[in-house]
Amino acid sequence: MRTTDAVWLAPGEPQEIQSDLVSRFQQEYGRAASGTWFAPGRANLNGEHIDFHAGRCLPMALAHGTYVAAAPRTDGQLRLRTLDASLDDGITTVTPDQIGPAAAASGRDASGHWSHYVSGVLWALRELGRSQPAFAVDADFGADLLVVSTLPIGGGLSSSAALECASILAFLALGTPFGQDNPLQDLNAALTRENRKDLAAACVRAEVEVVGAGTGGLDQTAAMRARPGKVLSLDCRDFSVTPLDIGCILRGYRLIAVDTGEAHRLADGQFGDRRADAEAATRLLGLDRLRDALPEQPRKADVSHVLEEFDRLAEQLETLDGRSVEACRRRLHHALTEMVRSEKLHHLLSGEAYGVRHIASTVGDILTAGHMSMRDDAEVSFDIADLVVETALAQGAEGARLIGGGFGGSVLVLITPAAIPKLTAALERISRRIRLLDVAPSAAAQAL
Ligand code: ADP
Ligand code: MG
Repeated sequence: MRTTDAVWLAPGEPQEIQSDLVSRFQQEYGRAASGTWFAPGRANLNGEHIDFHAGRCLPMALAHGTYVAAAPRTDGQLRLRTLDASLDDGITTVTPDQIGPAAAASGRDASGHWSHYVSGVLWALRELGRSQPAFAVDADFGADLLVVSTLPIGGGLSSSAALECASILAFLALGTPFGQDNPLQDLNAALTRENRKDLAAACVRAEVEVVGAGTGGLDQTAAMRARPGKVLSLDCRDFSVTPLDIGCILRGYRLIAVDTGEAHRLADGQFGDRRADAEAATRLLGLDRLRDALPEQPRKADVSHVLEEFDRLAEQLETLDGRSVEACRRRLHHALTEMVRSEKLHHLLSGEAYGVRHIASTVGDILTAGHMSMRDDAEVSFDIADLVVETALAQGAEGARLIGGGFGGSVLVLITPAAIPKLTAALERISRRIRLLDVAPSAAAQAL
């Protein structure tokens, strides 16, 4: 039983959403859409702020996501419109000279406009096509696009990667030899794991090099490579993935994402600032990637050894690359303990940790420990997120944590179905902007 259905954000019926989008496309552009592509948002059991340190992350795709209807053009232009009420400013036209990192950086285009995510993806696919002829985008290719999402935007559930991944499939289908060889839904079966990995990497390039956000690849991998019913155990050293069954956690439990209604903007600089602290600590340790500070199967004691080494090296320093030594140490502590938590979860879900009888309570404890680390060490949490975690635990949740980059966003809660009505009632008292999403590990980006 749910206290108020309005509190729940439903993923909607894909076929209905698609058919509404296609009719709207016809009205908007005066011609038919050639197809519709979808990419999901994501939740993450653990592994925030460590993808760019080559750590392990444990994402899963949501049923909620972003739909893109599109038709090709032959003048190299992009014409884009979103149906998201807060971002919709009519049709945006992006000319060929405005596509790519230099164009975005020069400020010719309004900085921070959502169209950069889409034009960035077209640029990144062109780049990928240089080394892989099947992905080579036709020289004069452009497109009309209409976007609608069932995700909160800026809610830590990765609407940005969903937009990128749905768009890249549209461009692949409409503007490359790969798309000509595999029309419409044939694309889904034709895409190999390696193709999906390359496309996810292209979407990362778009977000990093064109939008200017410090994303490390977790979100795009989840959107492009997720598997229904599975958590992806993603090793960001080489972006290999191991799909792990989530059934053992969900037996008798539900995972819920609580969108706090506080939207963040990762391009704002705070996220980059946290990343820069951790990278300064990594350099002091003489490493290229922080994951290499820990052994293959890291434990708490290994974290202590690295921190001791950091303290020894930092002893005489007033600042570290112009940054606060204490702050760098806290980011280091978050990243290292987050890596240990990810490895623990990986082994638990792989069934390698025999003798764990209460898997939900163990996973719950790891979630909550992750939140404390996001709050105290990464320092990316915020009042409502802390309150949601506290409230969930008080209502009997096994665990809860902030997911996404922080400074706004969503909290993941592991809880029994019986405790949900009381939780929703308590959350409604915190803020009327709170929304709940059922986390049902779902499929990856696809042509519809
Ligand atoms: P998150 O990925 O956690 O939702 P981000 O700050 O990374 O938050 O990305 C949000 C940004 O992505 C928005 O500000 C907007 O620029 C773009 N975006 C995401 N979804 C859409 C959409 N449906 N329509 C237009 N822009 C979108
Ligand atoms: Mg994002």
